[in-house]
Amino acid sequence: MTTTTGADAGSIAALTTRDVVYETVKIDGDPNEVGHVVHTGAPGASGEISYETVRVVGHGSFGVVYQARCRENGQEVAIKKVLQDKRFKNRELQIMKAVEHPNVVKLIHSYYHTTAEEEVYLNLVLEFVPDTVYRIGKHYSKNNQRVPGLLVKLYTYQMARALASVHKLGICHRDIKPQNLLVDSKTHVLKICDFGSAKILAPTEPNISYICSRYYRAPELIFGAVHYTTAIDIWSIGCVTAELLLGSPLFPGDSGVDQLVEIIKILGTPTKEQILHMNPGYTDFTFPQLKPHAWSKVFSKNADPLAIDLISKILVYVPQERFNCMELCAHEYFDELRDESTRLPDGSALPPLFNFSDDELSSLDDNLKAKLIPAHAR
Ligand code: ADP
Repeated sequence: MTTTTGADAGSIAALTTRDVVYETVKIDGDPNEVGHVVHTGAPGASGEISYETVRVVGHGSFGVVYQARCRENGQEVAIKKVLQDKRFKNRELQIMKAVEHPNVVKLIHSYYHTTAEEEVYLNLVLEFVPDTVYRIGKHYSKNNQRVPGLLVKLYTYQMARALASVHKLGICHRDIKPQNLLVDSKTHVLKICDFGSAKILAPTEPNISYICSRYYRAPELIFGAVHYTTAIDIWSIGCVTAELLLGSPLFPGDSGVDQLVEIIKILGTPTKEQILHMNPGYTDFTFPQLKPHAWSKVFSKNADPLAIDLISKILVYVPQERFNCMELCAHEYFDELRDESTRLPDGSALPPLFNFSDDELSSLDDNLKAKLIPAHAR
């Protein structure tokens, strides 16, 4: 089964930015079928690139993700297909084009296709990353084991480093969860994916509070805040890290309200001041009074005390009091990653962790830079 795009000049709907091409593709087969080939007008050696679908790898909330192979260069890719509302620009595409980081999944190419029913789909061609933190966590918990401490550290660090860059652009991901953290389980390189909920947060503009998957949802969102900040992603990082350490979600709420109950059971009831910091417009303060649970009692006796210290600096009610992403990366918990002698469990070298761009380092003070870049990497 083959789909041919109108690769003539007339069908190219927009411009090339970085190596991204927009074009409109007329689909004449079933792209959901394994082995389907899409010919796109993206410039390749032969003036064209075509992708053959291999299998479906994800059914997301907004579309389907396929594994596919580029016929011209053999590159494995993932194609995320999302229904496009013709009235709006696709925010996910705009944001993916703006973000470039070694720990963010790379956008290779994009094109639109129109079905026989005249529905328009946007296809994001992404580098293919075979695993997710979710699947890795499941693998260990199924065998009644915890994810090795070094891997928890690597995943948390890379996630925080990527989000530092994303946040610097004013973008909030708004759906950090284990399923959206892709991992190459050989090298343990982590890449954040799914910018489908991401948004540039303007301080004066309200944003919807019904966002982010429940277990990872920051308390200010549950309190209905509309002027929240990128600190909601930091909360989600804390929940993911705690889940990897525990082997199950830290706050497994079974409804929006229950999610708050789960948080209160551990952090204790927020004070009126804390609630007003989360949402200045909140007026109902009638909560059962619960005392906080010591973090050391939440985790097992042999949990890494530095990991617990890190969690205690992230999972706090007042968003402004949470560590930011670069402060997180500089925390002592990650010193093991900065130690030249540290190796992956199979004895191989750690993935690149200090290949900071000038953009990443600009605006950081010297003290923080000195902590982030170990002497052997300078
Ligand atoms: P949605 O926004 O529809 O939820 P996602 O972008 O979250 O879609 O992707 C859904 C799933 O597809 C992910 O959890 C992951 O399992 C898989 N996936 C997404 N992108 C890739 C990729 N680049 N490489 C491999 N698998 C991917």
